[in-house]
Amino acid sequence: MASSVINVFDLEFNELKDEITRLGEPVYRAKQVWQWIYQGTDSFDDMTNLPKSFRDKLKGLFYIGGVSIVNKLVSRKDGTRKYLLALKDGKIIESVLMKYHYGNSVCLSTQIGCRMGCSFCASSKLGIDRNLSAGEMVAQIIAIQKDLAEKISHIVLMGIGEPFDNYDNVIRFLRRMNSPDTLNISYRRMTVSTCGLVPEMLKFAEEEFPVNLSISLHAPNDEVRKSIMPIAKKYPIDKILEACHIYTQKTGRRITFEYTLIKDINDKNEHAQELGERLAGLLCHVNLIPVNTVEGTGYSKSERERVENFKKVIEEYGLPVTVRRELGSDIAASCGQLRKRLVESDRMVD
Ligand code: SAH
Repeated sequence: MASSVINVFDLEFNELKDEITRLGEPVYRAKQVWQWIYQGTDSFDDMTNLPKSFRDKLKGLFYIGGVSIVNKLVSRKDGTRKYLLALKDGKIIESVLMKYHYGNSVCLSTQIGCRMGCSFCASSKLGIDRNLSAGEMVAQIIAIQKDLAEKISHIVLMGIGEPFDNYDNVIRFLRRMNSPDTLNISYRRMTVSTCGLVPEMLKFAEEEFPVNLSISLHAPNDEVRKSIMPIAKKYPIDKILEACHIYTQKTGRRITFEYTLIKDINDKNEHAQELGERLAGLLCHVNLIPVNTVEGTGYSKSERERVENFKKVIEEYGLPVTVRRELGSDIAASCGQLRKRLVESDRMVD
């Protein structure tokens, strides 16, 4: 297909309007197209209130979404759905739909692969291929919403990739999902998760969106952090916490610290105390996640007792703490288990 063909989801409304008025069509035609695509219509031929000649012109200029569902696994345990999605260039990503009592939440990928290199995470294993465009992120939501036939109410950028390594597209995406003429999802129902890219955290604070910010901390000090997360060599924990303070001041939002408990690496009593000391006084919440096993990492889950002790110590510092409920564990849809290619075990459809 010619490279001049554009993903309509990559356009802001004004950009679509310009394209369409340039074809000699009135502005209301752009509004009609906009409505159709955000309702989940994925073919111009189905836009029945548009003249056929106009639909043909649209087909020559645009495509819709560029994301198709190639496989779907549904958890028997909790209804979590893992989607394997193919992009227009044939690349594969994964996204997860989680059903909660408060609504439907999509855990979205922001890149094909990841270059952060965290040693416990499957998404890092093959490095990075490319960023996703804002339109490809929008298309994931629209495709999943259509498949589910229910509204998506929450978005978490915790799929494959580091959102702040694809900053501009992520911002465009968040703004678009918040817009009243698309999905109208409140910023308070969106969460961005980062391994701690400090300059982008500070930039994000300046946007003053009330988006939830989640930090993948996973260690109480730089030494332990460096042994499992290469990014720790670039940004020390002190700088991350400084940026967190600024973020909470600017947005009034509480920060969530993700802490993956890995047996004997970061789960000891002394680690919990050090973490508690460092975080005390910050408007935050600590989320403990017993590490999910990823082939080839050699890590194992902390024992139950250690998890309970870790939680107790953090509580003693006056910090709210939860142990994350594992969703979709039977379909490898849990944190850090998403990867950018089809693996053999993904081939069966449940
Ligand atoms: N790059 C971003 C977004 C990915 S979010 C970030 O680092 O925050 C995915 C979350 O799952 C992160 O908190 C990540 O650290 C965590 N994670 C990765 N591998 C994991 C594993 N094997 N078990 C549990 N959590 C894991």
